[in-house]
Formats: sequence, structure tokens, C-alpha cells
Amino acid sequence: TSFFSSAPRIPKDAIFALTAQYKSDTSPVKVNLGQGAYRDNAALPWILPSVAEARERISNHKLDHEYLPILGLPEFRQAACKLAIGPTKFGSVASRIASCQSLSGTGGLHLAGSLIKACSSLKPQVWIPEPTWSNHHLVFSSLGFECRSFQYYDFERKRIDMNAYKKMLQNAEPHSIVILHACAHNPTGCDPTKDQWQEIGRIMKERQLFPLLDAAYLGFNSGSIDDDAYAIRYFINDLGMEASVSMSFAKNMGLYGERVGCTFVVTQNAEIAENTESVMERLQRSEVSNPPAYGAKIASMILNDAKLTEMWYADLITMCSRIREMRHALYNLLVENGAPGDWTHVTSQSGMFSFLGLPRDIVIKLKEQYHIYMAENSRISLAGLNTSNVAYVAKAISECIR
Ligand code: PLP
Repeated sequence: TSFFSSAPRIPKDAIFALTAQYKSDTSPVKVNLGQGAYRDNAALPWILPSVAEARERISNHKLDHEYLPILGLPEFRQAACKLAIGPTKFGSVASRIASCQSLSGTGGLHLAGSLIKACSSLKPQVWIPEPTWSNHHLVFSSLGFECRSFQYYDFERKRIDMNAYKKMLQNAEPHSIVILHACAHNPTGCDPTKDQWQEIGRIMKERQLFPLLDAAYLGFNSGSIDDDAYAIRYFINDLGMEASVSMSFAKNMGLYGERVGCTFVVTQNAEIAENTESVMERLQRSEVSNPPAYGAKIASMILNDAKLTEMWYADLITMCSRIREMRHALYNLLVENGAPGDWTHVTSQSGMFSFLGLPRDIVIKLKEQYHIYMAENSRISLAGLNTSNVAYVAKAISECIR
């Protein structure tokens, strides 16, 4: 007998499998629009100048490889929470925060889920938008939560389905958890407007629903942290709600592989926060022991040094501007090529992705005949476009759907 002889065969993660297919494609015209990782105009990974500068300072400063504390680098956690809450309100909220450095955004979501399970005997349902980042279901179902989907996107009108959203909020069991993409909704690129966030927030407060904010793209969406943190700050600072926020520095600092994240919860008072943080520490001890140090040191140096923070803000603008230029170029070229249909959603969406709305057979045709790789649901990472390939991509899409 063996523990493993009846292990099921799980298919590979679709996006990572697509990247592997792309890598083994020998065509010189191939384009990877699958994985959501920033690329510069030469299709290369980009090391942010602020990160390069922080790296240099760290290595000149006797970089050692000691363990971090179990909860992570204290000055990084503090600076990350302050970034999310905003400098003006941070002072009044800080004592009610329990925070922990996490294994990027994914580890942070997992930690938030584990924390709720460890602290409460309630067995809340987790409401997840449809569509969403595919890992949401995996993270919360692997923790034993009952995951429920609600219709987030109106596929026909290519915008948020607020009626379905509100209906879910009105009918969800009290104390349910609602997964909220803080900004740059993946995959649709459609975020609630400020008015819509207020509506969502008010209903959630009234119905005692718990906001679990996935903040994977702060500053990467609009180029402004303040704009991108609107929802977080509305729930916490304006509505005074308990909430959990899982921040990732993968995209906004380009620290993908370094696994830099911070998860925090805002509780009702300082004593509850201290207790909650002690539970986080225990959970972290059993799963991670000590979070990775190098990326957290880089992020901390950037967030705690005024000059580096300014450099980072400029880097965010560089990334957002290039992505925005690619949105507009793709839109203009689709129209110029006479691609049938209305493409205004390409420019009205925001964030790293465009949710094109192509049928699956077209997505397959683009891959097989044109060597253009995108997620099956026709989500494209705009970072995969550049001035050398956007015309080819627009022409290929136009030809395929004509
Ligand atoms: N949440 C969303 C919506 C994402 O798109 C991603 C990454 O693609 C993440 C969380 C987490 O990413 P990471 O674990 O690399 O920080």
C-alpha cells in the first residue's frame, strides 16, 4: 500500500501551461499575451529603476541572509499598511491593525482565509466574482470554505453587472466573505466606479458582509496609489468596517519571483488586533516559519525612503503609460483593420489586461495559425504587446473574426 498510488492526475494550470507552449513555439512572430507579467517595449522583463537602486543600496550595506521574524520585516509591514490606508488616516487606524508579511498576494489570501478559520467558529461562505482570477476558487476551497460565484460581468454589455452584484449582496448570508478586487479586476479590467463602490460598501456594511480585498495591482492600475486604494480606504476609513487586505508587490514593483506581500486585517480595537496578530504569527510559524527576506528588504527600502518612493511612483507611471498606449494602439488598429464589432471596451477597461470577448475557436485559431497566445477566455495581457507586434496582433484578430 502507498499513500500515492491512487493520486489523481491534475491538469496543469492553464496559464502556466500556455506559457510553456509559447516557449516551445519556434515561430519568429510568436506573441505571448497569456501571463500577467510586465514586459518593456522590447518584450523583456523590466527591473524598475527604483528596485535597481534599492538593490544596490542593500548589497552595499552588508546584505546578510539571516531569518526575518516570523511576522516578517516590521518596517516593511508598517509601510505597506500605511500605503494602503493612506498617510492621513493611518495614525488613527494603526493600533487596530494586525499584519503579517506574506508569500506575495497568493500567500496573503491564503493567510487571510486561514486566519478567519482559526479565529471564528462561524463557517462563512466565500462569494467570488465571476469571472475572476482562477486561483481565488483554489485558495479558498483548499481551505475548506464553501465558495459561491456571483455574476460580476455583463458579457453582452461588457461592463459590471451591478444588478446581479447587488442582488447577491442583498441575499448573501450575514458574515459571508466577499472577495473584492481592490482595483484592476482580473480578468475583466472593469472596476466599480466610486459611486458603485459606495453602493457596494453600504450594502455590505448593512448586511454584515466581510470585505476581503485582494490588492494585487495597487498603483499599477492608474499610476496613482491614492486612486487605486480608493475601495480599501472607503471600506476601512469611511465606513469603519472590519476588513482584510492582501497586498502583493509582484506587479507594482516587478518583484514577481521574490514573493513580497503583506496581509493585514483591521479589527475593532487594539486588544483584538494584538490577539489576531498572535494567531497570524502561529499560522505563519506552522506554514512558512519565516517569510523570504530579500524582496521584502527591497520593498521596505523603497517605501521608507522618500527619494526611492518618488522614483517608484515614476516607475508606476512608466508601466501604466506603456500599457495605456498599447490599449489605444490595439483599439485604433482593430478599427483601422475593419475588425467587425465595437471595441471601445478595449480602451475603457483598465489594468494589465484586456478582456477581448472573442469566442474560444478564434482564440485557438490565433494560437495555431498566428502563434498568438492568450487565455482561453480571450483575456490578453497588454504588457505582451509592444510597438513591434501590436499591428500584427490587431491584423490577426481582424482576419480571424471577419
Ligand atoms: N490576485 C490577483 C487578482 C492576481 O491577478 C494575482 C496575480 O496574478 C494575484 C492575486 C497574486 O499574485 P502573486 O501571488 O504573484 O502576488
